[in-house]
Amino acid sequence: MSYVDEVLERVIAQNPAQPEFHQAVREFLSTVRPVIEENEEEYRRDALLERLTTPERQILFRVPWIDDNGQVQVNNGYRVQFNSAIGPYKGGLRFHPSVNISIIKFLGFEQIFKNSLTGLPIGGGKGGADFDPKGKSDREVMRFCQAFMQELYRHIGPDVDVPAGDIGVGGREIGYLFGEYKKLTGHYEGVLTGKGLSYGGSLARTQATGYGLVYFADEMLKANGIDIKGKTIDVSGAGNVATYAIEKAEQLGANVVTCSDSTGWIYDPDGIDVALLKDVKEVRRARLTEYKAAKPNAVYHEGRGVWTQKCDIAMPCATQNELNLDDAKTLKGNGCIAVCEGANMPTTLEATKFIQENGIFFTPGKASNAGGVATSALEMSQNSERLSWSFEEVDNKLHDIMVNIFHNVDAAAKKYGEEGNYIAGANIAGFLKVADAMKAQGIV
Ligand code: NDP
Repeated sequence: MSYVDEVLERVIAQNPAQPEFHQAVREFLSTVRPVIEENEEEYRRDALLERLTTPERQILFRVPWIDDNGQVQVNNGYRVQFNSAIGPYKGGLRFHPSVNISIIKFLGFEQIFKNSLTGLPIGGGKGGADFDPKGKSDREVMRFCQAFMQELYRHIGPDVDVPAGDIGVGGREIGYLFGEYKKLTGHYEGVLTGKGLSYGGSLARTQATGYGLVYFADEMLKANGIDIKGKTIDVSGAGNVATYAIEKAEQLGANVVTCSDSTGWIYDPDGIDVALLKDVKEVRRARLTEYKAAKPNAVYHEGRGVWTQKCDIAMPCATQNELNLDDAKTLKGNGCIAVCEGANMPTTLEATKFIQENGIFFTPGKASNAGGVATSALEMSQNSERLSWSFEEVDNKLHDIMVNIFHNVDAAAKKYGEEGNYIAGANIAGFLKVADAMKAQGIV
């Protein structure tokens, strides 16, 4: 049996009932196979793939907090510090009822290669809790964040592990987490990114993942002789990534006609009204039915179905496995030419295979959504310097980083005979840098 297959079997046997983690590792290993096979015996002797697929540290903890009725609630907290070969652990915190160790490990594993692709010195980690911020009062969210940090603070630090936001963790939650960290340690330092501008945050961090996705998609399309201007785009999600992807795509002259949340989706033939979307989601924290109420021309559909809307480009920006094989077939039938992932692993393996086999361009989240973490690393630099850069400066750096990532991914795919396969390109380019650093640092 080849070394790659041995490692996949081992991962599945040693991590039972972790389907999302298996999915991420399977996709990764299948694409780096040609690199491993060039030097199989050396990789096997050093157990490099076993070390890479085993987190350096997994922290699981109890989060007890008191709700507005005086009732004690208990949630599960997680921080997986996956790989620190190229820098301190870096990756978001997710608060969502679906969070479990499989999801945190898949996200942490992907984060290693994403962070490597940015070219910045950051290792891979991820964390979160099975806490649902929906329907909770501000004070409940604050007490939960404080309880979460009462354990997490002993495991993080500006040179150790620097968490950020993810699903369910935005500016409000980062503020409460930062406040509690400062109270517990007495240190005012860049231990979290995605902070507010009044206390060490970076301009353009809020926009970074969505803008970065569109910069990446635009560069990929250009390299294939296609102009994003005038294209019809379906976006899923209505959170941080989706909102700013819509904003940037519309600025570049595309017509974004959909967005969605966990209960339904909007089709707006006039193009999604970003100011209205921000008001509904960021200010009022309401459902998309409120968008429809303010915009009679738009159509609201209950449940899923965003990919049935005809488009040239699909940008899944909500959550993992939200675009399945049937969706991929529908997109193909409607003439879609590109799927660019904004979320982490939003496309199932079967759908990804179908998309690639049918000549639709596909950009994996670990490359196309890397703008968020890249800008988080820029926030870390500003915190270390105790300086703040202008919006344009950060945005220009973000643009350059996304363009560079695309060309590195493209070049790696070509070098290994996989031209146009941006999944292979991203995994190979991300892997080579981490593997090199791991080899240089010995067996640790
Ligand atoms: P948000 O919480 O801001 O938004 C998530 C959106 O997706 C919301 O509209 C939410 O609906 C919807 N959603 C969440 N879970 C589900 C579900 N199970 N089914 C259907 N819809 C769902 O998160 P982000 O925008 O920050 O993150 C979105 C994705 O992008 C995630 O995969 C995340 O890991 C990834 N990502 C985020 C980065 C960042 O910088 N924020 C960086 C890189 C990747 P509702 O409004 O009803 O809650």
